[in-house]
Amino acid sequence: MKVLKFGGSSVGSVTGLHNIKKIAESADQPLIVVVSALGGITDKLIALGKRAGAGDIAYIGDLDAIIRRHLDLVKEEIAEEKQAALMNDLESLFHDLRSILHGVYLIQDLTQKTADAIVAFGERLSSLIVATFIDNAKHYDSRTLFKTTRQGEKHLVDYDLTNKNILDNFTNHQGIAVMGGFIATDAATGVTTNLGRGGSDFTAAIIAAALDAEVLEIWTDVDGFMTADPRVISTAYTIDELTYGEAMELCNFGAKVVYPPTIYPVCVKNIPILIKNTLNPTAKGSVIHAKAASSKSPIRGISSVNEMSLVTVSGLSMVGVVGVNRRIFATLAKGGISVFMVAQTSSETSTSLCVTTQDAEKACQLLDKEFEKEIQDGAMHHTSKQDGLATVAVVGERMKQCSGTAGKLFTVLGKNGISISAMSQGALEMNISFVVEKHQLRKALNVLHDSFFLSQHEELNVFLCGTGTVGGSLLQQLAAQRQMLMEERGLKVNLVGVCGRTKAAFSREGIDPARYKEVLAESGKEGGVERMVDEILEMNIFNSVFVDCTASEEVAAQYGRLLSANVSVVAANKVAASSDYDNYEHLKLLARERGVKYLFETNVGAGLPIINTINDLRASGDKILRIEAVLSGTLNFVFNTLSEEIPLSKAVQMAKEAGYSEPDPRIDLSGKDVIRKITILARESGYRVEADEMEKQLFIPASLFEGSLDEFWAGLPALDAQFEAERKRLVSENKRWRFVAEWADGKGKVSLREIPLGHPFYDLEGSNNIILLNTERYREYPMLIQGYGAGAAVTAAGVFADVLRVANI
Ligand code: ADP
Ligand code: ASP
Ligand code: MG
Repeated sequence: MKVLKFGGSSVGSVTGLHNIKKIAESADQPLIVVVSALGGITDKLIALGKRAGAGDIAYIGDLDAIIRRHLDLVKEEIAEEKQAALMNDLESLFHDLRSILHGVYLIQDLTQKTADAIVAFGERLSSLIVATFIDNAKHYDSRTLFKTTRQGEKHLVDYDLTNKNILDNFTNHQGIAVMGGFIATDAATGVTTNLGRGGSDFTAAIIAAALDAEVLEIWTDVDGFMTADPRVISTAYTIDELTYGEAMELCNFGAKVVYPPTIYPVCVKNIPILIKNTLNPTAKGSVIHAKAASSKSPIRGISSVNEMSLVTVSGLSMVGVVGVNRRIFATLAKGGISVFMVAQTSSETSTSLCVTTQDAEKACQLLDKEFEKEIQDGAMHHTSKQDGLATVAVVGERMKQCSGTAGKLFTVLGKNGISISAMSQGALEMNISFVVEKHQLRKALNVLHDSFFLSQHEELNVFLCGTGTVGGSLLQQLAAQRQMLMEERGLKVNLVGVCGRTKAAFSREGIDPARYKEVLAESGKEGGVERMVDEILEMNIFNSVFVDCTASEEVAAQYGRLLSANVSVVAANKVAASSDYDNYEHLKLLARERGVKYLFETNVGAGLPIINTINDLRASGDKILRIEAVLSGTLNFVFNTLSEEIPLSKAVQMAKEAGYSEPDPRIDLSGKDVIRKITILARESGYRVEADEMEKQLFIPASLFEGSLDEFWAGLPALDAQFEAERKRLVSENKRWRFVAEWADGKGKVSLREIPLGHPFYDLEGSNNIILLNTERYREYPMLIQGYGAGAAVTAAGVFADVLRVANI
């Protein structure tokens, strides 16, 4: 014999209903089918009772909608010849329900007893419909079988009576029996009661245990027991098998798929539970049984409960107060408050208890009363509470054999800026539970799920600010490389936000980088970095990186906020790294403190590995003594392009059009860009220096930089003739202009130099950059790094490499 339970989502949908019929009718052994109310009806009945009790006549409309939903299902799905008898039964139930509600409305009072009677109509109605729909099935009113006794506000199953009733009715059961789950009657008074929300699973388990069924099948709307709640974690997947112990831990902590009390009765009888999907019956499902094959990960699943509070009993002299814990738990038990988790410090000066937020205030009052005298004497403090929390349980029997699980767990949480309010692990080592702030719950679940279950690929969530030439190029590269990174490097780069000048778009699930323009056009969100950062902090996604492909001071000003929230920053923008030394240092320290990265390799030499090389040299004990470099791709391009036909003003124009120059070319021509770069290199080499301490010898009169951009373009041609004359002289002397940055003896300088033939800078082509590094190790012959020093594609590639560095792959 098998016991099958179909949940509300199975019964409530047309496909579900037809599948139930097929599953039941094709069984090759006797069945007992337990059904829930149609999906959503239980909630509606509860609300209906409250509305009538509040004297709101609108309850009638709600009642009619409930009746209509049942009637529509019958009219559309049940064979005509079966309809009449069924309608008779249903009408009679509708009549009773209407009368009860009318009474409640008239006296404007809803007792628990009446509410229980009202909610029971859900299963009473659905079980009649299912029993009629399945050919040759017999309907039973489960209220005549299930008996409860009252304890406080709860109804407990009277196992003696219930088991007897089940055995009397089903010992030699053949065929298909159908009944509603959840509902019962009081053993003493016969009034309708129930087994608690979600209790249909429990009904089915009690029957399975009483009859020693071969299996208890729980048919629901997901493919099985999953590694986490699929509504929160989109990458959660079905667990093939798990032990009773593991299932119990997960269900007790919020895995709604099975009602917690369900597991115990079948576990005692060693009856397996099979979780299946009514809407996808061919999926394998999950088995819960005594022994389950070990999983790859040390943990089997993660679950959580929201709306929690921590109640803390504390006091320095509490150590000496006898039986504190006994009194705490006795007090709470008397008040009907259940405790989800306990954390006590070994010094015994405080005990924190995790309870639902609904119970928290009452818990504090009861405990303050219990310890009134100790509080008065000063031995203990008033009970305190912290609301707005959530509890997470990480469960797996294999944790016991795998050391380091807790270490990994708390490390990844810490790296993502999630702090733990309390934690607990029992000696069984099967469950590590911890409390976090409610707004961190989704992130905590995601980061843990990602690192424990999806370790075959790491996920990096990218927010990109700036969709100009570099940003646009980065998006193209991302689109082209995504698949390869996933397959060959195990890295899933997920673009979760893009912000252009006027529009922004965000998506937890990811934006296709190839379609970012359409996505931005369709998005209703306005651009602007401050808004973007607000959104990033609000989304609070794990393993996030902010990529700045702008040249904006406003964007650079946001790095501190981002790093503080454990978001790594990759900047093509040089503003922050070359700003006040204190700010630069603060950002670097902040990143280190938060365990995230602040990377800006492309600030100097576009995609050339300069900053990383300096860092590697220093980390391995070398010291940078002198830097001599041509760091402006724009200026080098300009000086290499000058000719008889191409005067200075034209060459500058061409550099701009080729995408080499800063959006405002004055930043290049004034030497500002090179000063920023040499400042950054000096700082990365370990020197404390400000940009305005660099000596500069310019080649364009300062007056040209003082007006507007238009005035600059208009004034530039006036310099053409003089430059051409100088150029001719240089050619005759076999020299070339190079705008050189130098750092030596703790001092920096930028100047236009005339480089003779034979010098390494002489042959520097196009927009290339060159860097000579003299270090203690590279003293006699400097290290030389040379290559493209400007251009959107190489800069974007350098940014991309920094992004990958954040992922540490
Ligand atoms: P039913 O109406 O069939 O009783 P429930 O809504 O009570 O269904 O339970 C199924 C739901 O439980 C799923 O739709 C899913 O959203 C939720 N759920 C939470 N945690 C888990 C988990 N670990 N595995 C599967 N489902 C889960
Ligand atoms: N219908 C009840 C509820 O929604 C029982 C169940 O579905 O298991 O709580
Ligand atoms: Mg359920």
